[in-house]
Amino acid sequence: MKLIGIIGGMSCESTALYYDALNRGARARLGGLSSAECLIWSVDFARIEAMQAEGRWTEAGGELAAIAGKLDGAGAEIILLATNTMHKVAAPIEAALSSARFLHIADATGARIKSAGFQRPAIMATAYTMEQEFYTGRLRAKHGLEPVIPNDADRAETHRIIYDELCLGETRPESRAAYEAVAGRLAEAGADCLILGCTEVGMLLSEANSPLPVFDTTLIHCDAALDAALALP
Ligand code: GLU
Repeated sequence: MKLIGIIGGMSCESTALYYDALNRGARARLGGLSSAECLIWSVDFARIEAMQAEGRWTEAGGELAAIAGKLDGAGAEIILLATNTMHKVAAPIEAALSSARFLHIADATGARIKSAGFQRPAIMATAYTMEQEFYTGRLRAKHGLEPVIPNDADRAETHRIIYDELCLGETRPESRAAYEAVAGRLAEAGADCLILGCTEVGMLLSEANSPLPVFDTTLIHCDAALDAALALP
């Protein structure tokens, strides 16, 4: 199995989900006591979140690129950036790698949606991911999808719940209900499936309580990493 390097901590709540999904996935595929070979570099999210809020994306990209280079140097062959939002700075991160392969979360997700036969994925994520081109533009240009984003009020509330609650490990019933209502309005707006486009959104929404078929980026990213880690060289 190839060594998987994870740039995590954004937030630590979802990095724990990555660790869980990678290990459970390895056991399911290989049986017995098998688990995933991985290295996790977990950052202090307070610093990264301040850079996001202040628009210091180049600085954040530089920090994450330096970490990617260290994971590569330590022997990681596959690199996961365990957050959708920070894929805004995927380019410098990828450029910092000499031999490891960067698995872009939007590409893993877009490919999965396409092969399942869906076309108009709704996306619930941070405002950065929902509103800026780096993510929805990539789904359009590389995967031929037609993303549907929530209305203004729903985007604001989706974003608030991520930073004020989920990234702090809080899962509140009223926020679950709010997310279900947003997903319902996205279905009414013509979406045919739902991307959980933030690695914490799965803490509140799943196939069990979504009116639309769900594509959870955390789980898809881990699955793609295991596919790559177990592929023949
Ligand atoms: N984990 C989140 C995401 O997937 C949000 C936290 C962050 O801004 O990195 O976008």
